[in-house]
Amino acid sequence: MSWSWKLARVAGIPIYVHWTFLILIAWLVIAGTLENNNVSQGISEAAFVLALFGCVVLHELGHALTARRFGVKTSDITLLPIGGVARLERMPEKPSQELLVALAGPAVNVVIVALLLIFDVPLPAGVGASQELVHAGFWPKLLMVNVFLAAFNLLPAFPMDGGRVLRALLAMRLPYARATRLAANIGQMMAIGFGLLGLSGQAPILLFIAIFVWIGAEAEAQQVAERAALKGVSIRDAMITEFHTLDADDTLGRAADLLLAGTQQDFPIAVDGDPVLHVLTRADLMSGLSQRGRDGLARDFAPSALPTVESSGSLSESLTLLRSRNTPCLQVVDRGQVVGLLTLENVGELLMVRAALGEPQDGSVEGGETIY
Ligand SMILES: [Zn+2]
Repeated sequence: MSWSWKLARVAGIPIYVHWTFLILIAWLVIAGTLENNNVSQGISEAAFVLALFGCVVLHELGHALTARRFGVKTSDITLLPIGGVARLERMPEKPSQELLVALAGPAVNVVIVALLLIFDVPLPAGVGASQELVHAGFWPKLLMVNVFLAAFNLLPAFPMDGGRVLRALLAMRLPYARATRLAANIGQMMAIGFGLLGLSGQAPILLFIAIFVWIGAEAEAQQVAERAALKGVSIRDAMITEFHTLDADDTLGRAADLLLAGTQQDFPIAVDGDPVLHVLTRADLMSGLSQRGRDGLARDFAPSALPTVESSGSLSESLTLLRSRNTPCLQVVDRGQVVGLLTLENVGELLMVRAALGEPQDGSVEGGETIY
């Protein structure tokens, strides 16, 4: 993840912290100090948040180390202000294994609660009244927060762990993509319930949770449906092979003519001294035309190189790359030669064709997984 600093490496897994998280800590120190005219108050509030995030790291390690037992590597764990994210290279294939991986995170919080209770940490007085909780001591507060983490993560809705638990249970009986769709719908029903409660003014935060759950559920269902649909499809099947490439000395006028003559919007362009193709997007072309007219050189307005994928690579990973780089297309190479372009639009068309032909679209999925 970009804008993250590596904090440590635990059991071979790098742990990153996102810069927004550091701002949160700094803000807590400053706000706590100003509010109470007392630096130690600010520092103790920040220390509590650090302890809380320590618990979050342990929760993520619970997922990651359980996944490792099933032979699945974790590429990293990142701390964000909203929580932690572990990026698993994939989910284990068997639903029973995904079930254990999902349960392992909340189980860590349950263990922390049990340990705190064993060490005689009292429950904060007036549990549930948030005012009381804010003024409770360090350890009682940590206890309550772990109870909350375990309970919240077990809500049976994506993107929470409980959503995965539900999906895994359903997937023992149903195909994976259908189990995911069903689990996502159940999560969205819950989101509507949260939303209504939030709107009724009981707890406005429920409204944010509702939105978070709704979006998370939809994203998971779509991602799984897409991966299931693309299973067994190679980059070669999905790429465009008929496209125009501009030469290094082509003018903007020629690019404009090609744009008008066909449906291609973004043109790969060979740039002197760079072995990979650059791209002239339609927006670049328009800004070039307004600045230099038809005689301007296209290459002057194609600053960025097109990301490259090998034709033998994984299609789902290429789609992730395509989305994360915010680029219109990828160039597909085979032994150093550009053989095609990959665009989201074309992959969408391929999915439509496959759906229309009724080709099988189910089975387990492959590709990276994020777990909270
Ligand atoms: Zn989790």
